[in-house]
Amino acid sequence: MILDRLDKLNKSRTLRLLLRVAMVFERLFGNLRTLRWKLFLSYVLIGIIPIFVMWGGNVDIVESHLVEQRAGELRSLATFNAAELGARNYMHETPVMRGMLDRNLMAQQESRQAWIMIVDNMATVIFDSLETEQGNTWATAGVMQALGGTHHESVGEDGATILQVAPIFDADGEVEGAIMIAHVVDFGNLIDNINSTTITFITILILAVLAIVVVMAQWLIRPMRRILASADMISKGQLEERIDIRGRNEFSALGLAINDMTDKLARAESARQEFVSNVSHELKTPLSSIKVLSESLLHQGGVENEMHREFLTDITSEVDRMTDIVNELLTLVRMDEVELPLNISSFNLNRMLEDVIKRLRPLARQREVEVEFADFKQVDIDADEMKLSLAISNLVENAIKYNRPDGNVRIVLDADNKSAFITVADNGVGISEENQAQVFTRFFRVDKGRDRETGGTGLGLSITHKTILLHKGSIKLTSKEEEGSTFVVRVPLQAR
Ligand code: ADP
Repeated sequence: MILDRLDKLNKSRTLRLLLRVAMVFERLFGNLRTLRWKLFLSYVLIGIIPIFVMWGGNVDIVESHLVEQRAGELRSLATFNAAELGARNYMHETPVMRGMLDRNLMAQQESRQAWIMIVDNMATVIFDSLETEQGNTWATAGVMQALGGTHHESVGEDGATILQVAPIFDADGEVEGAIMIAHVVDFGNLIDNINSTTITFITILILAVLAIVVVMAQWLIRPMRRILASADMISKGQLEERIDIRGRNEFSALGLAINDMTDKLARAESARQEFVSNVSHELKTPLSSIKVLSESLLHQGGVENEMHREFLTDITSEVDRMTDIVNELLTLVRMDEVELPLNISSFNLNRMLEDVIKRLRPLARQREVEVEFADFKQVDIDADEMKLSLAISNLVENAIKYNRPDGNVRIVLDADNKSAFITVADNGVGISEENQAQVFTRFFRVDKGRDRETGGTGLGLSITHKTILLHKGSIKLTSKEEEGSTFVVRVPLQAR
């Protein structure tokens, strides 16, 4: 129990120690989850693991090659000695002659660091270079194989012990004994040498890899840092900040995308500011008129009834104007909402246009403007009738308003198998080329002074434009000053 607890305590201590080391490491080198560290670690792994794998592999290759070479040498030695002993008739020789050959074998043991043993055909040891087995029977598998007439070779599983047993034949080719040569390979020194050279080499290599990796990681991360710094400034509201694009790679593509986004953000921001200032400006004018009118009513005592009425009528018309502005703004804002649902239904476009014209006839009569309608065919359409009717109504109303007495407005309806085409043409005041591009912008009016008389807010055409776009259609304007304007609206027959 106590031991268990001690063990647990120890483990948690080790854990705490490890955590502390990790914390120190993190404090020294920053957050380990950053891209820089991930890159660094991957490079280190890619660069260093193969070095160790190759090291281990190479040492193995060298070792097995050396063992093979040594085994070959010893095989030749055993074969050579067996032939020599057979030729010299060693097995049947006098002790004196044997002594000479024995000395020769002892010398070989010295020089080759090999254990040499000779057995007769009964596996009895008749010579042992270590002089411990003399007279004993040595019937090992190797010896038995050689006594059977074939050479035996084995290399121990550790790769270090080599055993060669060669049969000794007499003059008639009969096996009369065998010579065994055993050798314990010791490459210790050589391997140590290889290892220490390799360690020096690897240390230098690892240091070089580390240095390259640090530089590479820095180099790869630098553009990312630049992008981050700029993105940070942009997010803090500095919309004029742009990322400095260098080269052509993934980072420059990211930089370009962010710059593009910032352009759009800056445009949206300036449009927003312009919109707000326009709204305030547009509302300020009627408000100050109301203020002037009501103040004169308050301060001028004994104003005639007639005058009273006139001022109040003016105040009412200013309030109406403000109501118009607010209503149109609300329509626009609603259209700005993402994916404003179109209330689509099937209806007859000819009838819709007739209704629009009917509603505007009194205004046309008042302005002494002739309105004519020509339809080439009956056109049924799937669209949002209310919105489309308002959009076309704005065009016809403008064509009447920005006209001259005795002027003319011509509305034409045509269609092909995909779209309906509605043309609203007038021979009124026209719009100059430079203003044509802006008429669809909110609050844009060509002649503010004159337009105030006509009661315009500068929002009508932007509502029309937006509605047509929502229907996936298009609107085109051609106009010439003092000659008239023509708006051509294309709406798909199926706007779903
Ligand atoms: P408004 O409420 O002022 O009519 P619009 O957005 O409908 O606002 O039109 C913007 C401006 O474009 C108008 O103020 C007017 O100057 C000009 N405009 C629009 N339609 C015509 C037209 N048919 N002929 C001449 N000018 C036009």
